[in-house]
Amino acid sequence: MKKLPVLNNTIEELTFKSIKDIRKTIYFDNNATTKTDEDAINAMFRVLELDYSNPSGIHKEAYKARDLIEASRKDVADFIGCQSNEVIFSSGGTESINSAINAAIKLNKSKNIITCETEHSATKNKLEELKKEGYHIYYLPIDQDGHFNVDDFNYFFFNVFKKSVSLFTIMGANNETGTIHNVENLKYIFKVIKEYGGYNHLDAIQLAGKSDIKNYITIPELDFLSISGHKFHAPKGIGALFVRSGIDFAPLLFGGKQEDGRRAGTENVAGIIGLGEVCRKNTPFVPMTNDNRELFIKLLTAAIPDAIINGGGMVNTINVGFPYINREAMVVLMGEAGLMAGIGSACSTGIEPSFVLKAMGVDKKYIHGSVRFSFGKYNTKEEIEQSIEIIKSVYDKLKGITI
Ligand code: PLP
Repeated sequence: MKKLPVLNNTIEELTFKSIKDIRKTIYFDNNATTKTDEDAINAMFRVLELDYSNPSGIHKEAYKARDLIEASRKDVADFIGCQSNEVIFSSGGTESINSAINAAIKLNKSKNIITCETEHSATKNKLEELKKEGYHIYYLPIDQDGHFNVDDFNYFFFNVFKKSVSLFTIMGANNETGTIHNVENLKYIFKVIKEYGGYNHLDAIQLAGKSDIKNYITIPELDFLSISGHKFHAPKGIGALFVRSGIDFAPLLFGGKQEDGRRAGTENVAGIIGLGEVCRKNTPFVPMTNDNRELFIKLLTAAIPDAIINGGGMVNTINVGFPYINREAMVVLMGEAGLMAGIGSACSTGIEPSFVLKAMGVDKKYIHGSVRFSFGKYNTKEEIEQSIEIIKSVYDKLKGITI
């Protein structure tokens, strides 16, 4: 394997700031994952090289590792807007979501769960598993913009499930389209669920770093909230679950007493430090403001007037429908030309159209040709301008030959 040149330096000299991205690519796939923040890499590198003791130990160095974790926990708590003891570190979004669902159904014995049809597979597939154990899952349908209707919730909650629901779980923002659910509607549902003894979980994995999640934490009826580091410039394999203080949390993993007995297993200290650093810095995820979003849409629709925008809400996410185009071919060829984009959820690769766009009723003409462009903090206005040329040339190449 090729050795990173910086590893030849002494510890004191080490800084990943010196490494420049030699691959000249435009990376517009930030909802899939992001490039790790340089300060986070530096902080993690120190931990891997120096502070590698097991935090459960009783010697001096072990205490140091434990102190580092607790300092990071405080940074993550401040970022989320909660107390340190309300943060449990996990291996990422999928584990946080699974843990929240598991805890809720242990705490409330109702076999009825309400969610939304456009949830990430981390939620959907866990709930589908629960169906095999006799759970009833109601998936709120969505409209063409990706929003659910509170009337559908009311009908199912009061008339079908007769107020007996163990869990309401929903994503704050959709990873494929960027649609953000209406906070007032969420507040209403959280309140109703809580009033009848159920639990509420918010998948804030696409919101974190892009929008202020404190707006959700301040809703007193919200019990659990999941975040994942790699979606906002922290490393992969680290996430956190907010558990409202006072909840008698039931762990998903059993073993050692780490995380106050709420998540067993030796801590990913470097990952925790990386996540803490990104939360502490809390730099804007998208220096590309609405102006740049508008610029991308303006240039794109001028270059390809037949293209449409599917959904929308998060400033960093633009899902574009290209008529009669095969999205896989489009993404692969753009990649060859130096522009990285996505087809939606990493778990929905294949020839099946996106279930999110299907649920939104996107026209057949566009559904197979819908591509997601998602920006991160390292993207620039120049990249937006350059990307349009690539998109246009690939589109022209594929026009008329696919689908
Ligand atoms: N939820 C949403 C909305 C996501 O976008 C993702 C990742 O794509 C996940 C959950 C799963 O997170 P992770 O990849 O950290 O397991």
